[in-house]
Amino acid sequence: MDMQTTFRSRLYAAGLLFPTGVDGLVGRNGVFEQIFTGLESAITRAGLADRPEVMRFPPAMSQKTFERSGYMKNFPHFAGTVHCFCGDDKAHHQLLGKMARGEDWLESQEGADIVLSPAACYQVYPIVAQRGALGPDGHLVDVQSYCFRHEPSLEPTRMQLFRMREYVRIGTEAQVLAFRADWMERGQAFVDTLHLPYEVEVANDPFFGRAGKLMADSQRMQNLKFELLIPVNDGAGPTACLSFNYHQTYFGDTWGMVNADGTVAQTACCAFGMERLVLAMLRHHGFDPADWPAGVKQTLGFE
Ligand code: ATP
Ligand code: ZN
Repeated sequence: MDMQTTFRSRLYAAGLLFPTGVDGLVGRNGVFEQIFTGLESAITRAGLADRPEVMRFPPAMSQKTFERSGYMKNFPHFAGTVHCFCGDDKAHHQLLGKMARGEDWLESQEGADIVLSPAACYQVYPIVAQRGALGPDGHLVDVQSYCFRHEPSLEPTRMQLFRMREYVRIGTEAQVLAFRADWMERGQAFVDTLHLPYEVEVANDPFFGRAGKLMADSQRMQNLKFELLIPVNDGAGPTACLSFNYHQTYFGDTWGMVNADGTVAQTACCAFGMERLVLAMLRHHGFDPADWPAGVKQTLGFE
């Protein structure tokens, strides 16, 4: 058993996580959620002065929105679609028969016009776009959503369904770049208040296929993505717990978002991987929050 499995098995043994029988799909107990809620509040406090518009979403989005977002071009391997039974009594009977015989019963399911959200900020852009041109200050959103990525793993930090919290900036190039530079600093200051070790590095998204390699290289060369990495899984490299992404005009072009001066809007986001942050806290401060440093407990509102 390697060290990584040890951290994972300790989490289960302590009752912090509940297994479901599927890699990367886990339940969490009250202690885990208490830390999660403390982190959510601390992130809210860290961004409150900028008066973001708050948006919270269910774990799925409209299929039409998903299609237009272009996600399938770059990350088809991660996407999860939602399907339902839409048949009559006869079809129902056949379905139960297939299930009982251990046959493939999914082939008769039909699309539900819903796709699981791959990233929280994908829900924001069409909503902002349909309001018309931005004001001179652009826009700032605080968004949270469950996200799905089909990347089953034994690493506790790599889940298939996890919660992503993001600050999303939409505006001119200058506004968006200033936002990202600012949140790269504030993100580090935030993790300092959690007393966690970290490094910040240029990164790339896991684009699909042969063309994906070129896209990843180009993303790195242009410094479009940075990650704040924290050692969490023993025996493995550090884990991306925050990411700072600059999309240039990708979403502005996709959704027709326009600045007050008529130029295509740019976007950037600062994303917090919520479960990863909780796991980092458990890894570095121990499994009982009562024993954590006073400053950390204060940040989380535990005292
Ligand atoms: P990684 O490089 O680890 O695959 P990513 O670069 O794909 O992550 P982003 O697309 O930037 O991640 O997602 C924003 C944040 O969501 C990440 O910084 C991370 O904290 C969190 N996250 C991403 N994938 C997962 C996952 N499978 N399980 C838990 N959290 C995740
Ligand atoms: Zn984002």
